[in-house]
Amino acid sequence: MSNQESHAFQAEIQQVLDIVIHSLYTDREVFVRELVSNAADACEKLRFIQSGGTSAIHQPDVAPAIQITAKPDAGTLSIADSGVGMTRDELVQNLGTIAHSGTKAFLRALADGAKSDARLIGQFGVGFYSAFMVARRVTVLSRSHQPDATGWRWTSEGAGGYSIEPAPDLPRGTTVLLELKDDSKEFAAKERIESVVQRYSNFVSFPIDVDGTRVNAVQAIWTRSKNDVTEDEYKAFYKFLGHDNDDPRYRLHFTADAPLAIQSVLFVPKQNLETLGLTRVDSEVNLHCRKVLIEPKAKGLFPEWLRFLKGVVDCEDLPLNVSRERMQDSALLRKLNRALTSKVLRFLAEEATKDPDAFDSFHSEFGRFLREGILSDHEHHEALSKLLRFQSSTLEPGKTTSLAAYVSRMPAEHKEIYFLHAPTREAALASPQHEVFAARNLEVLVLTDPADEFVLDRVGEFDGKKIVAAEKAELEVPLPDPAEGHLSPEQASALAEWLKSTLADAVSEVRVSKRLATSPVIAVDSDGFMTATMRRTLKAMNRDRKDAPPSSPDLEINPRHPLVSRLEGMRHKDADLASKAAAQLLDNARMAAGLLEDPRPMIQRMNQLLERILA
Ligand code: ADP
Ligand code: MG
Repeated sequence: MSNQESHAFQAEIQQVLDIVIHSLYTDREVFVRELVSNAADACEKLRFIQSGGTSAIHQPDVAPAIQITAKPDAGTLSIADSGVGMTRDELVQNLGTIAHSGTKAFLRALADGAKSDARLIGQFGVGFYSAFMVARRVTVLSRSHQPDATGWRWTSEGAGGYSIEPAPDLPRGTTVLLELKDDSKEFAAKERIESVVQRYSNFVSFPIDVDGTRVNAVQAIWTRSKNDVTEDEYKAFYKFLGHDNDDPRYRLHFTADAPLAIQSVLFVPKQNLETLGLTRVDSEVNLHCRKVLIEPKAKGLFPEWLRFLKGVVDCEDLPLNVSRERMQDSALLRKLNRALTSKVLRFLAEEATKDPDAFDSFHSEFGRFLREGILSDHEHHEALSKLLRFQSSTLEPGKTTSLAAYVSRMPAEHKEIYFLHAPTREAALASPQHEVFAARNLEVLVLTDPADEFVLDRVGEFDGKKIVAAEKAELEVPLPDPAEGHLSPEQASALAEWLKSTLADAVSEVRVSKRLATSPVIAVDSDGFMTATMRRTLKAMNRDRKDAPPSSPDLEINPRHPLVSRLEGMRHKDADLASKAAAQLLDNARMAAGLLEDPRPMIQRMNQLLERILA
């Protein structure tokens, strides 16, 4: 045809198509979910425009609806909607290019090899292309709702791009026609397609017909009473809405009258997609007002740190014709955000009590969002701090505790909650910082994520108990009786003084330690509040340039350790050897605290010491 134009797909889309066409053999029926969801979106958009009442639309009397037609003899399936439709430019833009990072993220997630993850296609904003899993040719006929628009036919066989040409006399909306591959003809059978559509249709608030028969009741699930919705319906709703093939982890269905009239169904997924190689997920909670979709994936409805939620919020108090831009900084939205966030936090606290194991699993998948909340959101600080979980020195490895449970185990005379960071729990328990706690039988929270120190620092105190880093705790080990080989207090302070003068600027201060039981020395950060871990983390983030000049640690020595008493002896006999040993001890301590940045001088010195030993 003369006025037919051929186009190539954008490179990323071609890549997505190659994967979809060549490597997806399981769960191919997700294409139904994706195409029905696009048709429903198009109907939602039309309803939104209509509810504004200001723009003229083509065929205003045709209600938004979806019609699915299967032709087993021809081996075709079509999904038609009377939604907004697309202009020529929109067809080119929406089906041939991708404006956002969705494709790249999808490809990256797929690069991890898990074929099953391809089922997540819809979550990456490329759901349309799932049609090519089952179709050898896809034809899209579309006419925009704009009164002066004309119709267009878009056709593609996947590889080799698509072509586009005028198609006169189309009704408003879009028809996606699939010419099924030989191995996918089952989807042209009425029973098969009906059973797949049935699963999602109840959540689409527009009529859906399959071969002329209505399959859904058109009643938004969130407006129904909790008692009327079955477990299976919730699961299916989640899968449809969240483009997920797993069941949800948590579900919260609630209505509220004050301060705002809200009807909502919210879900927490099983998986945290941000650990799947995606940089950042977007909140997938759609905002409705009296069932009309006001904004899909609404911004500002929840704080950023709740972006893992999926679901629907319907708020009657929203003005229907509010623009999205105005909505986004309205006081109403802030009020809604506050009410919803408190509700979710209360829900999570209840779940934590009801089923601690399930909550633990939630926490290990999504705990980092709660931590992000602590660091970024002061308003919900207290509720959030109750949801945090940590490993502990007195619990079995892998078991976690809340701050409240820690406090309940505290000896009555204690006023502080202690924490200790190390790369692993074993390392924490074997570290010099832990000695005083072991000696005094005190529980310490064990942090294996360096960010947790900042989190606990921000929490500050819990239940009136100050939260203190182990290395800042003012605790003493019970002193053993003075024994031979222990330094006297005078000897110990003389040694400390000498150490300060030989180590010079490498240390801020040298002290006689009261917290060491078995280690000779310990290096602690000289800053009153910062811990060694925090300093290391800040350095890694390169954020300490201005406010924290490179600092030398404080060194504490254990006067009851043979190494220390021998050092005291040696400095009077061979000052050169003694100062090499002192420097080595400091480096050992810095290494134990993770503060040694450049090991080369240390290795050189170690070799010199070895030379002397082996002489
Ligand atoms: P997503 O739905 O996440 O945006 P898709 O790949 O499913 O990604 O669809 C891409 C875009 O194509 C949609 O955002 C929409 O603009 C357009 N589109 C797809 N199907 C339809 C339809 N039936 N009616 C109108 N627009 C559609
Ligand atoms: Mg879609």
